[in-house]
Amino acid sequence: MKAGAALGLDFGTSGARACVIDHTEQVLFEAQVDFPRPREQSPHDWADALDTLLGALPADLRSRLAFCAVDATSGTVLLTDAGLRPVGPALAYFDARAHALALELERSLPRPLQLDALARLLWLWREHGGPRVVHAMHQADWITARLLGRAPPTDWHNALKTGADAASASWPDAVRALPPGALLPAIVAPGTELGRVGRAAARRFDLPPALVLRAGTTDGNAGFIATGATRPGQAVTTLGSTLSLKLLSSTRVDAPEYGVYSHRFGPLWLASGASNAGGAVLRQLFTDARLQELSSRIDAETDSPLDLYPLPAPGERFPVRDPLLLPRLQPRPADDAAYLHGLLQALAGIEAAGYRKLAELGATPAAAVFTTGGGARNPAWTRLRERALGLPVHLVPHTQAAFGAARLALRGTRLLPSPDPGAFHGD
Ligand code: ADP
Repeated sequence: MKAGAALGLDFGTSGARACVIDHTEQVLFEAQVDFPRPREQSPHDWADALDTLLGALPADLRSRLAFCAVDATSGTVLLTDAGLRPVGPALAYFDARAHALALELERSLPRPLQLDALARLLWLWREHGGPRVVHAMHQADWITARLLGRAPPTDWHNALKTGADAASASWPDAVRALPPGALLPAIVAPGTELGRVGRAAARRFDLPPALVLRAGTTDGNAGFIATGATRPGQAVTTLGSTLSLKLLSSTRVDAPEYGVYSHRFGPLWLASGASNAGGAVLRQLFTDARLQELSSRIDAETDSPLDLYPLPAPGERFPVRDPLLLPRLQPRPADDAAYLHGLLQALAGIEAAGYRKLAELGATPAAAVFTTGGGARNPAWTRLRERALGLPVHLVPHTQAAFGAARLALRGTRLLPSPDPGAFHGD
């Protein structure tokens, strides 16, 4: 008999993905579905996507599934009734309707907690609250609930932006005291066994009744888990539209003024910060094909004389805090390759300053950097970054959040580093 396989489900901003891996983490199957209207996505769309993804699983794989975990966008929340039916809309992480409430909460709650998602729940409660409302849930909790047949506990990672105290994995009294606070789920470690697939879901999707569901994580953290980083000092830079840095640290760092916060990772902390600079500016200037062509003409062993700061709009938060910082995109040399050299060097400098800033705020200094995102496969940029960082930069084979969720499903809480990271062998 073949060993059990693990299913990871990722619900991102534009769509959802499934990834099945075997016990050696070989990918056996992947599928993807786009949301019809990403900016107006609803739980109905999530349920449809779940149906499509599970429906696409080949029958032989389906019968081999032993574990499943879900990741979803961080800070997307909803209220439901006792039967897990949404009451009111789901508020996605990009929905600004609760912004004023978030500022109000920041002023009234005692400690520097992450409150964006809590503010969204409070907004939903004010608009739709009442005796019918029984559960306050994160997106990942709700999707997991559809498979489990009941409301599950949530995980540390999803709970963070809802005001959880990550260190004690609990809701502070001040959060509990808010109207939707009493409806929040218990908090467990990502990867915790939640139970077997519910009877209705097993029947509907023809899933093995022994399939175990495990607590999930956020999409960002699932992407980090996909890279396989587990030790303090290991960092992951995402070179997408923005430049986002994540660094495993023995110490927790939180600096709201820089947008820096930490997720709990077993006994470690995953510190993160994001610059507004990044690929968005590159895309404004060049097509991806042109970027590739120009990059091949850059001598990454030399320094560009340009001093640029490629922001898409005024304002920067990390690694420097300056809401008025102006983009510096001039002078533009006649040769586009020389211009791109300056832009990539500037972004490499921002990345290096970002890791220095995290260390300055108290994080374990970065020792090795993994890379994901659209800019990751640019050898000239990689070399410029190695020079700016003074560190090796590695490409990783896996960066998909769905793969990270599958790893979490397979390994459960053993995926997070053990209390003695030196003794961690990853199995
Ligand atoms: P996101 O999901 O954040 O929108 P992606 O991870 O898909 O972004 O990355 C897209 C970004 O990568 C774009 O801003 C694009 O300019 C940049 N990009 C694509 N190809 C290259 C390349 N060869 N070199 C540098 N940047 C690139």
